[in-house]
Amino acid sequence: MSHLQDKKIILAITGSIAAYKAAVLVRLLVKAGAEVQVLMTEAATRFITPLTLSTLSKRPVYSTIHDGHAWNDHVTLGLWADAFVLAPLTATSLARLSMGLADNIVTAVYLSARCPVFFAPAMDVDMWHHPATQEHVQRLQGIGHHLIPVGHGELASGLVGDGRMAEPEEIIAYLERHLSSGHLPLSGNRLLVTAGPTYEPIDPVRFIGNRSSGMMGIAIAEAAAARGARVALVLGPSRLEPSHPGIEVYRVETAKQMHEQALDLFAEVDVAILAAAVSDYRPARIAEEKIKKTAETLHLDLVKNPDIAADLAKVKTGHQLIIGFALETHDELSHAREKMVRKKFDCIVLNSLNDKGAGFHVPTNKITMLFADNKVLEFELKKKSAVAEDIIDALERMKAQQQENEKKKA
Ligand code: C5P
Repeated sequence: MSHLQDKKIILAITGSIAAYKAAVLVRLLVKAGAEVQVLMTEAATRFITPLTLSTLSKRPVYSTIHDGHAWNDHVTLGLWADAFVLAPLTATSLARLSMGLADNIVTAVYLSARCPVFFAPAMDVDMWHHPATQEHVQRLQGIGHHLIPVGHGELASGLVGDGRMAEPEEIIAYLERHLSSGHLPLSGNRLLVTAGPTYEPIDPVRFIGNRSSGMMGIAIAEAAAARGARVALVLGPSRLEPSHPGIEVYRVETAKQMHEQALDLFAEVDVAILAAAVSDYRPARIAEEKIKKTAETLHLDLVKNPDIAADLAKVKTGHQLIIGFALETHDELSHAREKMVRKKFDCIVLNSLNDKGAGFHVPTNKITMLFADNKVLEFELKKKSAVAEDIIDALERMKAQQQENEKKKA
């Protein structure tokens, strides 16, 4: 049975040429058993008629705040929905959502909705890549909304690039995956994952960073979300983005910001997986102006960054689990074990720089997992996505063990 069966879906359509695909989307939603309420901006009605959409959805379509319904119906509608889907979402409407405007029926209902929100942008390639657009996308993702990624290909302008709205079938598959998460092994669990490098500013243009790509941590977040966990991903400056709708992304730059964000989220989670390569030190002072190359030598005073893992361990409660990472170059096992004990990790994932294909900026990794009960698990060299599955398998076993122990105690 479709996970969309009997679901109440608001489909908000905004003024893009991709609006013609909304007819197919309504048809597929209805076929899957969903109740669909279509909302349109005025601009959208110039691309596809409300008559087409009301015929397909078997309900009246609203395109203004006063469309023959009570002025406060946006509140009722917002609360009625199980999911709010914006497809296609134009650059303008995206900006409106990001700013919290309530100047048309779509934005007014959006602000009143308490359900999960999914957005499928559609725009030309340069509009999509514009920093303003990307900031708005990140803002929506930051508040937990789900980006249905844009496609790459020919655009209405004739240009070729990113910005095509996802196909209706892809949108349906995306919603099915998200709305199915009630039955998966990690559903009901909330995870915190830290990933990526941190950048520690020296002056307005320079920073101290490291070669972490964020790939391993993002793969872990994806694997956990695919098994039904709600994941808060605190992500340093990585070029990569997760795509699973169950992942909320919190973007940070520095170790201090990562520390603050991780501590903020920790009380709400059952598990923390600390895959970030956090800079141990930061410049003691950030120069206000770009440092000139006048002197022959330059000394930077560095001060220690907070240790996120250690500070999480201090406030950790009995039911929470923490999995840490260690990247070692010699005496790997003993260093990793010492780190696990010192940082009060329940498990530590060791990657050695001595293994070819393991570590930073490669799509593969070779890990050894050490557990608090002295168990050691060694794995082959694998793609990072497969490594992430191994780590989440181990997490599931740890959770099962934890439940077993609690039962024995009771
Ligand atoms: O001490 P080391 O940096 O090798 O420890 C690695 C582990 O500790 C990783 O899980 C990393 O994410 C975490 N860590 C942290 N905060 C720091 C440094 C490391 O959470 N400041």
